[in-house]
Amino acid sequence: MADLYARDAAALSRMSHLRFFPQAVTGGEGCWLTSDDGRKLLDFSGSWGAVGLGHAHPAVREAVARALSSQAGASLLSSATLPAVELAERLLSIAPRRARGRVWLGHSGSDANETVARAVLAATGRTRIIAFEGGYHGGTVGSVAVSGHPVQDASARLPGLSLIPFPNPLRDGGPEAAAENSLARLRAVLDADGADVAAMFIEPIQSDGGMLVAPDGYFREVEALCRPHGVLLVCDEVKVGLARSGRLHCFEHLGVEPDIVVFGKALGGGLPLSAVVGPEAVMNHAAAFSFQTLHGNPACAAAGLAVLETIAREGLAERAAETGDYLAGQLRALRDRHPGVVEIRGHGLALGMELATGDDLTPATEQAALSVFRAHQLGLVLYYVGVNSNVLEFTPPLTLERSEVDLGVEILDRAMRDVAAGEITKADIAGFEGW
Ligand SMILES: *Cc1c(COP(=O)(O)O)cnc(C)c1O
Repeated sequence: MADLYARDAAALSRMSHLRFFPQAVTGGEGCWLTSDDGRKLLDFSGSWGAVGLGHAHPAVREAVARALSSQAGASLLSSATLPAVELAERLLSIAPRRARGRVWLGHSGSDANETVARAVLAATGRTRIIAFEGGYHGGTVGSVAVSGHPVQDASARLPGLSLIPFPNPLRDGGPEAAAENSLARLRAVLDADGADVAAMFIEPIQSDGGMLVAPDGYFREVEALCRPHGVLLVCDEVKVGLARSGRLHCFEHLGVEPDIVVFGKALGGGLPLSAVVGPEAVMNHAAAFSFQTLHGNPACAAAGLAVLETIAREGLAERAAETGDYLAGQLRALRDRHPGVVEIRGHGLALGMELATGDDLTPATEQAALSVFRAHQLGLVLYYVGVNSNVLEFTPPLTLERSEVDLGVEILDRAMRDVAAGEITKADIAGFEGW
């Protein structure tokens, strides 16, 4: 199947391609993918964090096989089904107190965030939403509407959207100045329009914006500013939630209690599944308000339940904390050999490595693109994120072993050395658009 990549190009639309190198895979297990040329690739992306338990986890395979061996229909729209009910009950049991109302099930982070954006406006009668510059909440019209990522600048935002800066200590003069700059903007929006703001969308780590970690205490200030205005705090845990950060929920690092929590990616164990958990006043404000035919289908719901059970049973949050600390340490050691590495940041197995040059920290965009390309040639899969496309993202399966950390970091080290030596050039990455 050595021509799989070419067949993909000839048959599949570019509209959903975000390609960094000519990757074509035919299978996978644990933290490894099988390339169509027979190579084994070590997966430090986990399909952008969607494969939290690793590829082909037995618990997910068994749950899906069971759900499909006697199929209770294909939808929760017009029928209660056991997998959807059990998944919802389980999500309520792990939700923060404020959010323990009802659960909505969807296919993706995008449809979940879109549903929240529509529901908070409809349920409160308010017209405005606050979100962050650089934030990514999805790729559908209604989720782009509340996002601030520049890759989507051509798409329409919600008319009542206010974007505030996500504090970036590295680039905004240190933690205090970064936090104060952002909070001043938030205060200004709330002073002007607070009574008309329905919700504020937050990412506990701004992942696609560059794996940014806000200074300690910043989000407590955000919550304190929002509460008096009755602004609902919506926490988008889609990429960094469900044990990835070293805690079950990434917002646990922030010291805040969201009103609404959005789950996606890893929740489905590789299948399309998302969930919103929130207060009854929002989640039950209307019937037939947001649904797609296959929402809550038994196969995906069963996979979701298996994922949540496995995270608890195998202690994956603790494991992600330990492996993540080890990986962060190994990545920091690369700074000595590669002057372009300016910061390693994140929590657990949600890590970013920012590449920049010079005293003014010019984003090393090309170096990022060349490095992930070369890494793939050498057998390691990872991509880059960031509003300047210069942050390597590490979101591997939570089951990653230390020996795999060592191997992956060794490959990355060599890839960056090869890039510095000019062994990979712009011509090699022509045709790979990334973002
Ligand atoms: C990926 C992502 C989304 C969108 O999820 P899809 O499954 O791509 O629709 C939303 N929010 C965050 C934080 C994400 O990382």
